[in-house]
Amino acid sequence: MHDKTLTELAASLAAGEFTSRELTEHLLGRIERHDGDLNSFITVTPEQALAAADAADATRARGEAGPLTGLPVAIKDLFCTDGVLTTAGSKMLENFVAPYDACVVERLKAAGTVSLGKTNLDEFAMGSSNENSAFGAVKNPWDSGAVPGGSSGGSAAAVAAGLAPAAMGTDTGGSIRQPAAFCGITGLKPTYGRVSRWGIIAYASSLDQAGPMARTAEDCALLMNAIAGHDPRDSTCVARGVPDYRTELAAPLSGLKIGLPREYFGDGLDPAVEAAVREAVAVYESLGATVREVSLPHTHYAIPAYYVIAPAEASSNLARYDGVRFGHRCEAPRDLIDLYKRSRAEGFGEEVKRRILIGTHTLSEGFFDAYYKKAQQVRRLIRQDFLDAFEEVDVLMGPASPTPAFDLGAQKDPVSMYLQDIYTIAVNLAGIPGMSVPAGFVGDRPVGLQILGTHFAEQRLLNVAHQYQQATDWHLRRPKLAEESA
Ligand code: GLN
Repeated sequence: MHDKTLTELAASLAAGEFTSRELTEHLLGRIERHDGDLNSFITVTPEQALAAADAADATRARGEAGPLTGLPVAIKDLFCTDGVLTTAGSKMLENFVAPYDACVVERLKAAGTVSLGKTNLDEFAMGSSNENSAFGAVKNPWDSGAVPGGSSGGSAAAVAAGLAPAAMGTDTGGSIRQPAAFCGITGLKPTYGRVSRWGIIAYASSLDQAGPMARTAEDCALLMNAIAGHDPRDSTCVARGVPDYRTELAAPLSGLKIGLPREYFGDGLDPAVEAAVREAVAVYESLGATVREVSLPHTHYAIPAYYVIAPAEASSNLARYDGVRFGHRCEAPRDLIDLYKRSRAEGFGEEVKRRILIGTHTLSEGFFDAYYKKAQQVRRLIRQDFLDAFEEVDVLMGPASPTPAFDLGAQKDPVSMYLQDIYTIAVNLAGIPGMSVPAGFVGDRPVGLQILGTHFAEQRLLNVAHQYQQATDWHLRRPKLAEESA
């Protein structure tokens, strides 16, 4: 059961091969057996999951099942879940039980899915390795010495390990695509505004976007059908019709124009990753696509601009954790200032503090114009690079990450960690959608092909990814888990 895609599981449930309860019990058993090692979940919710599975089976028995009824999913622990611990990977929220569901969670529930629990992540989604979690690092199921990527590392590892057929992630600078690449699964970061951010614990509000992580593009399409669409509670969520993301999956790729950004194949790219990506591009040529080089000339400004804008927004968003209304509160505060200071000093981890300091500095009087405003101007140029490229080509392709998954503990300083996102971050600054699709291995570590499209081109991206998955089998490879016997 756990090797099946979401789409295959939906067919099995519809055919009565097994029930949602049987499937849910099976996956809960796997989590129990394997997650001690992997640490991909912060909270597992067996009772709620089994109750939801029974409800889904009853819905099906009444003949009222929809495409997602009874399908298990895991949720990044950044989405508020009514009555369930929601930690954001932080000690600050280690006791926070959310009083409501995020919009995405609400929609997944309404579609009849079964949440297995909440997945591990870098604290407040800040990181590229899942090592910045107050709940411990997550291991890569392909190689326990490697990181799963971040910040949605728990979601990626859980799907890769067959603990959940799909999971929700968020992507502020690469956090869906990079862990998907490192764990050999498929991830989609939608256009900014396509999916409601309501009820997702905010990191950098102008960049954050939720999206699906699953085995295949087809499964991502299925989940997008449930989660995309207008929500008046998020003022940046776009009021625009939601297509059935599955309808274009089978469209032929003849005539597809692919652009390879010159800047994504330069210094720092692991030659073995480059070889895998170029081989994937050759598959597209055999499917009838044409390929040309394009340029995104402001690419090298993306990381500096992001590390001004994202910390600035984070410093503002994280101001609410003051020990007063919810979250960690220090023992016996002397006065209000002491309460603020010690609650924040004790609750936040090192990387989060670093970003609050940077953000507070760049937003302060006298520095705002030099840093924040300048970064926003650079952001505009980065966006324009993409728009110019999409005048010439339909999609852009390149690596999702310069290397395969690195070793746990390998990135010793924050800047080398920041540089990991060189190919993903500009996409969030521009607000366009992007995917990572399994495209080979370096040794036993997966490589992700990144596919980018213009705003609201999700259907096209899913089509392009799906056709590749019809022609290759990288997405079908599974890691061998430690004590797996059967
Ligand atoms: N690694 C980037 C950061 O630390 C992006 C994280 C994300 O997309 N949430 O900010």
